[in-house]
Amino acid sequence: MIRVALAGAAGRMGSACREAIGAAHDLELVACIDRSTIEGAAPTFDTVAEALAATSPDVLVDFTAPTAVEANIRAALSLGIDCVVGTTGLSAAATDALASEIGAGTCLFVAPNFAIGAVLLMQLSAQIARFMPDAEIIELHHNQKKDAPSGTAIRTAELIAAARPQAQGAPGAESEIAGCAGARGARVNDIPVHSVRLPGLVAHQEVIFGGPGQTLTLRHDSMDRASFMPGVLLACREVGSREGLIVGLENLMDT
Ligand code: NAP
Repeated sequence: MIRVALAGAAGRMGSACREAIGAAHDLELVACIDRSTIEGAAPTFDTVAEALAATSPDVLVDFTAPTAVEANIRAALSLGIDCVVGTTGLSAAATDALASEIGAGTCLFVAPNFAIGAVLLMQLSAQIARFMPDAEIIELHHNQKKDAPSGTAIRTAELIAAARPQAQGAPGAESEIAGCAGARGARVNDIPVHSVRLPGLVAHQEVIFGGPGQTLTLRHDSMDRASFMPGVLLACREVGSREGLIVGLENLMDT
């Protein structure tokens, strides 16, 4: 049995994780961490440090908030507990700092997106960018999301930027008319990223590539948080046999 502590257990993703972990034959939810109490769940703790001290889990799964995740990971790593992190908004500098704190035999696994379709979209984007380097990203999420752009959009931009030869470039902020700053989106690795936030949405992303006389559009839609759960369970099962910092679910697939 893999013993799991879940931070953010009362949230949207946390609720889906409780259900998925509860239904998995080889995983046991030994601690829930959140500010709200959760009826009928594993023991609930206010802080990750308390939960880890009381239950000594094998894995900490974190779906909290950008303001909480860094300290949560640090608490787990200091005890040699593997981490599966879905919380987005962790900066590259913070991730690097955490990576330097990982002890031998411990794994910090971070996935900007646990949905297989989104992972495939990112991989395809990198392939397409070799031939169609001009790209823009539109990411669409529910209106309670605390960070923009999304972690998936940032990761997609990084992958496209690393794979593509020189892009032709499109008009940027200099073309925005007075009073409409941001119309051309945020630049992530020099790729425009447009963030949409609306009630009714879950997590969606389009990547549009343009070339002379043609465009190619990739789109992925997570209509339900169930889409993320196979990836979360896979990560919980895999981190025990991994070590160091691993970013991206693609690194755990095909094993
Ligand atoms: P959510 O519904 O707001 O849930 C977050 C939960 O964490 C809330 O119950 C929140 O409590 C709790 N929390 C926040 N700070 C805490 C702290 N310091 N101590 C204890 N509990 C704390 O958010 P969500 O939609 O589930 O998303 C959670 C994270 O997962 C976000 O960063 C989101 O971008 C990310 N996400 C990742 C993926 C992926 O595939 N990687 C997919 C979807 C979402 P309060 O309500 O009291 O603040």
